[in-house]
Amino acid sequence: MAQASQNKKDLAQARTKTNFDITDMTNYLYGGAANVEQRRYIIDLIAREPIFNKDDWPWLNHTDAVKRGIAMSTRLAEIKMEHELNDLDFATMVEAIDDTLPILLHNGAFIPVINSQGSDEQIEKWIPLAEKYQIIGCYAQTELGHGSNLSQLETTATFVQDTDEWEINSTTFTAAKWWIGGLGAMCTHAVVQAKLIIAGKDYGAHVFVVPIRSLDNHKPFPGIQVGDIGPKAYGGFNKMENGFARFNKYRIPRENMLMRFSKVSRDGVYTKPPHAKLSYGSMVLLRSVLIRQMALYLSRATTISTRYLTVRRQFNNPTKRNDADINPSLETQVINYPMVQNRLFPMIAQSYALFAAGTVMMEMYIGLMTGLSSGNIDTLAEVHATSSALKSYCTTIAAAGAEECRKLMGGHGYSYFTGLAHMFASIVPSNTYEGDNYVLTQQMARYLLKEVKIARTIPDKVTPYSKYLLQALNKEAFVNARCSVIKAEDWLNPDVQLAVFEHRCARLATELSDAVDAAGGMEATTWSDHNIECYRISHAHAQYVMVLWFVQSIRDARNPETEEERRASPEAILILERLSNLHALHTIQINLADFTEDAYFNPAQCQSLRAQVKSLVESIADQAVGLVDAFDHPDFLLASALGASDGEAYQRLWDKAQTEPLNRREVCDGYEEYIRPLLKKHGELKL
Ligand SMILES: Cc1cc2nc3c(=O)[nH]c(=O)nc-3n(C[C@H](O)[C@H](O)[C@H](O)COP(=O)(O)OP(=O)(O)OC[C@H]3O[C@@H](n4cnc5c(N)ncnc54)[C@H](O)[C@@H]3O)c2cc1C
Repeated sequence: MAQASQNKKDLAQARTKTNFDITDMTNYLYGGAANVEQRRYIIDLIAREPIFNKDDWPWLNHTDAVKRGIAMSTRLAEIKMEHELNDLDFATMVEAIDDTLPILLHNGAFIPVINSQGSDEQIEKWIPLAEKYQIIGCYAQTELGHGSNLSQLETTATFVQDTDEWEINSTTFTAAKWWIGGLGAMCTHAVVQAKLIIAGKDYGAHVFVVPIRSLDNHKPFPGIQVGDIGPKAYGGFNKMENGFARFNKYRIPRENMLMRFSKVSRDGVYTKPPHAKLSYGSMVLLRSVLIRQMALYLSRATTISTRYLTVRRQFNNPTKRNDADINPSLETQVINYPMVQNRLFPMIAQSYALFAAGTVMMEMYIGLMTGLSSGNIDTLAEVHATSSALKSYCTTIAAAGAEECRKLMGGHGYSYFTGLAHMFASIVPSNTYEGDNYVLTQQMARYLLKEVKIARTIPDKVTPYSKYLLQALNKEAFVNARCSVIKAEDWLNPDVQLAVFEHRCARLATELSDAVDAAGGMEATTWSDHNIECYRISHAHAQYVMVLWFVQSIRDARNPETEEERRASPEAILILERLSNLHALHTIQINLADFTEDAYFNPAQCQSLRAQVKSLVESIADQAVGLVDAFDHPDFLLASALGASDGEAYQRLWDKAQTEPLNRREVCDGYEEYIRPLLKKHGELKL
């Protein structure tokens, strides 16, 4: 028999088993106590504002939702200014709001693009206006006919020398800008990607600041047709008015082209950028931010399911973790089933790895921008490729993980009130925007192909994260290389794990390079024939750096010389090491074919690997609730009946169902119109 009153006790009991300090772990995850405090402060700011209340969200239609989204956006802007919050705080506010709002691309893309691609004068002109929200911007690249293929965009910006203007034109029907977040209703300006044309010559896509709506009455300017593209999949993004725009020979001043790198003079002379990929900075930023966002999403999903599965009881089957200490007559907590643990705990480990990856990726981005500001482009290619590979991999596992968390929770998992449904709808398009996850993997593959060439000609010049390529230089030795694991415990050595990932990356990259060479080199080969291999190597590389960064972050946390914010207590380190092992070994396990097809692993190693994963999963069990508590997601943010911190899942689910508007009437709408006529079709019935 299920007992609602047991829920609370179960979660409380599980917490007593935690044998590390949760505050210490939270501090490790967020980079110190000050960051944790600031995040809590910001989330609380949002939670206290009635406009951000989430209770009626499931019942809003798109029109009402967009209006709410605009109201929320406005308040968000006001709070940012009132409290003089920085970009990280803004990101935390967005995290707390937990919805995509019309204003997000203003701070997330419009400002960063101007900052990274605008000249000093342009930054001086546009950024103060944008920061005070006197103008509201969006980022317009995608068109009806093209998204991924930037080179085939059909919107043109033609230089009109007489008036010193650009004429922006949607040259065809398919040139209409499409999907643009914020464009449908709220924004006044857009940074628009358009092909730059001077005297009939096409210089490719460039970025222009384009006024869209009047600052007096918000009407679109003559020459622009603008609107909302309509509702989106799974009810997601419903407060965001993703929009379309068509330009009909619409004029803007020449200075509205962003001219930090490419320039066009008054007399129409074009100066090309010193490096073709200099404009990648803002893309790297957006992708880097996404890695951290995925950590926050997956950690929320695992928090909700871990707590619910701790209080959910089903069958009376013996398991190794039967809670006889509470009450032996109760059914088994489903979190005790090894099958459930095997699905859930690797995702907790992944969430921790994603936190570490988010931090390092952001540091790489900051390093890149510091270099670029002084003209140093040394790390550009590596950071661009790494952020592309990680974006593709991390958004893939986070979206799949959120769905797995739903399935883990059985039937109730499909209720909107889990807090997961809304999150899932928000998270899945991350696999598509900021570069389709499949197309994006070609970036890392192309980069590695160049690195293979460098490794073979000037090995000293190989970049840090591609050093593994050097081991494949001696072909004979590499083909005969075998994994060093002898005893099962050897799997727990991070250096062994890293060697395993490095071997796979070196093999896949070298094989891809050899295949391209065999087909006559990059110029002669049919590149799309190699794209399946591109995906494989890119995700393999992403997995390698994820494992590496998690291992390094724990090594740093243990090192007394590391700054205090990044250190952790020995108890926390112990459990972090288990998580890191689980993350690495589980990742190997689900990609086992990659490690066996060249006989790098032998059958005994495969078996001992599986045994280690199983035993690591078991070793997390008592810590699971503590580990998700350490993510520090408050109830307001989780917005979950099943995953609230007190564990009262059944009561909350019941209470939430009572808020369903259908339940306000004893007899439903439509009874007289439809149900009664059907029931009475064959006359009155007396039973
Ligand atoms: C919620 C959401 C918000 C968005 N917001 C914005 C925004 O604010 N501003 C903006 O400019 N855009 C925005 N976009 C658009 C988004 O950036 C693009 O949709 C995305 O980059 C994918 O491009 P695409 O639509 O052209 O896909 P396509 O490239 O047409 O992809 C279609 C399919 O073809 C495959 N494919 C394409 N090319 C190749 C290839 N070379 N090799 C193998 N497979 C290939 C893809 O994998 C995919 O399966 C948004 C999209 C969404 C869903």
